[in-house]
Amino acid sequence: MDEVLAAAQAVDWSGLGARSLCAACLGRLFGKLGHGHTNAERGRAVRARATVPEGPCWLCAGLLDEVDALAALAARKLEPFEFDTFLIGSKVDPEVAAREESLWKDLALTHPEPVKAELNREIGKRVAVITGKEPDLGDPDVVGIVDPAFGHVAVQVNPLFLRGRYRKLVRGIPQTRWPCRRCRGKGCERCGGTGKMYPTSVEEVIAAEVMREAGGTGHALHGMGREDVDARMLGRGRPFILEVKEPRRRHVDRAAAVARINASGTVEVDGLEPVRGRAVAALKEDRATKSYRILVRLAPPVDEANLKRELVFLLAQSIAQRTPSRVAHRRADTTRHRRLHALELVRVDGDLAEFRVTAEAGTYIKELVHGDDGRTRPSLAERLGVGCEVLELDVLDVHDGG
Ligand SMILES: [Zn+2]
Ligand SMILES: [Zn+2]
Repeated sequence: MDEVLAAAQAVDWSGLGARSLCAACLGRLFGKLGHGHTNAERGRAVRARATVPEGPCWLCAGLLDEVDALAALAARKLEPFEFDTFLIGSKVDPEVAAREESLWKDLALTHPEPVKAELNREIGKRVAVITGKEPDLGDPDVVGIVDPAFGHVAVQVNPLFLRGRYRKLVRGIPQTRWPCRRCRGKGCERCGGTGKMYPTSVEEVIAAEVMREAGGTGHALHGMGREDVDARMLGRGRPFILEVKEPRRRHVDRAAAVARINASGTVEVDGLEPVRGRAVAALKEDRATKSYRILVRLAPPVDEANLKRELVFLLAQSIAQRTPSRVAHRRADTTRHRRLHALELVRVDGDLAEFRVTAEAGTYIKELVHGDDGRTRPSLAERLGVGCEVLELDVLDVHDGG
């Protein structure tokens, strides 16, 4: 407290005039000096030495007497949501902030603290006591924004993020909900009023079961890349993070949700672990090598020795891939170079051939096979000089090191 008193001694209090201050507002003028005291304690110590008019507070007009009531209100508003960490913010009347700054100038203060910081801290301390939860400035589960002028608390509930790996056991469902191209989600004849191109998706199967546990108002699925709608996702599965918006509960029965997802017959997950939101950005960087199984129809058929020779050739090449015609409507037309890490023939049966390929992230596998009218070079079709139709494509592994 010595630091505070020394600073108070140096102030020319005549600059205050007739303006009276409450203990908290007086102490806050030295709020960044001394540790382990509330501003009200600082204020009482300063008042014992300096002549500061008492009376209704000119600065906060009694606002700081309301922190108990505001904290109780904030705790009540947060109550419907399960959370471990929270943050309190507040709206300060611009006139109060302006009065405060004029006072700092009039008294030539060097270490004052703004009223907003005190409100946030004092309400936050009380909310922690009432709820038994931890304040967290960085990444809180919930945020309460207190507006003292209207006695209102706005609650912002941050999403719940769960990380896992999924397997897609069937062809024909997309990774994420895909709005109908014609009606853009409103519902029309084409989509039978569903607003969707496909009746379900990996995202919807997983989210439905998680939201039965967590509640929430919406969802998003962030995948480490995505497979084509007609490709299965097998092996260890693809890493993903499910985001549940505005969850009511966070400590959910994840095992029960996993069991129900795995009983769907379409999608399986290997577990769901809570992660922080910042994990999404790392996941989306997706530089993972992937392995695939491809079933190809060769027209006309090619003998095994010829096939194997061309696979060896392709494996040694850098594959130049111009943006495929099937995605050209939504991606810039560029040419990228990709390498294959492995390429082997599994079997040949008449005009059918099955391959396994391991390729750098971002390789277009179907185009590697059929050549996309020369947009991918070299391709299997170009090397063999025959038509190559991709009948089946499965992702066998995402080598993400996890
Ligand atoms: Zn005051
Ligand atoms: Zn539609």
